[in-house]
Amino acid sequence: MMKFGSFTFQPQKPMGFDFHVFRVKPETGLRLKPMQDMHSNIAVFADTHTGKEHPDWISQSPLGLAKFGNNNFNLYWSVICATQPEYREDQLKYIADVDRQSQGIWLNSQYFAEHGHCTCPRCQKLYKKSGLSWLEWRRKEVTDYIAQIRDVVKKDLVLSIQPDPVSSLERYGVNFDDFAKYADVFNVVMFSKNYATPWYWEMLARGFKKILKKPFYISLYVYGPGDAPQDVPTTQELLTVTARCARSGADGFLYLTDGEKEIVDFQKEAIEKRELREKLRTYGGKEVQEALDKIAEWEKIVK
Ligand SMILES: [Zn+2]
Repeated sequence: MMKFGSFTFQPQKPMGFDFHVFRVKPETGLRLKPMQDMHSNIAVFADTHTGKEHPDWISQSPLGLAKFGNNNFNLYWSVICATQPEYREDQLKYIADVDRQSQGIWLNSQYFAEHGHCTCPRCQKLYKKSGLSWLEWRRKEVTDYIAQIRDVVKKDLVLSIQPDPVSSLERYGVNFDDFAKYADVFNVVMFSKNYATPWYWEMLARGFKKILKKPFYISLYVYGPGDAPQDVPTTQELLTVTARCARSGADGFLYLTDGEKEIVDFQKEAIEKRELREKLRTYGGKEVQEALDKIAEWEKIVK
């Protein structure tokens, strides 16, 4: 059955969603108080705050450090080396603690920063000692750490992945079959400031449907902190991309906003788009009907 979740930077629970995910530790490294009745999203290795305190922990590569300003990579924050032992230990304890205080754990950035990472002295040593190929060594480092995390998370563990179904091993050390052994659900993060070409997003969703061995949700970008109305996707685009990805067989959608106000604004606009919603009903697939039924329910909630 299709599920909808809210995905927010504020500890708020808008109505009309099956569950609520709170960004307890975003990429800034800020740690907020978990909420008993919300799921917790933690950016693991992306942590600008820790990067400032320990510049030598920042992930290294032949194309430079994993930090904001290095345009070889798509980074708006600092990423800590994925083998840094003190940081790994600290995150493991933190994740266990947040799990106890909330509904479960949604991780992102639980892998290497990007292609070519990490070439710090410790990683070079570990790689040589492993006897594995570079890509297989990175994969093992990532998967072994996920296994450790799985041991300490007693509730649901959701693993977010980048919207790249083809090159995740080369870029992040991520093997989806390895992750499927530990994840209850995948969350494919398809954030974009517009969804003007839904064909591409549908193509990615179909790719993930084909290869992921666990259910998967898709996270869509609605309205982030500090955005202006002209910066964000239109409601028409969001409804259309939801239908297009739903018919690929996605198991649910999350809608990212700063807080409750922005999500209620989106819901209000969505229920106004009656004609578009009727048209989208003809797009086929039971998941499309289920998603549109959920949006139709917002009519009773949001006035
Ligand atoms: Zn390293």
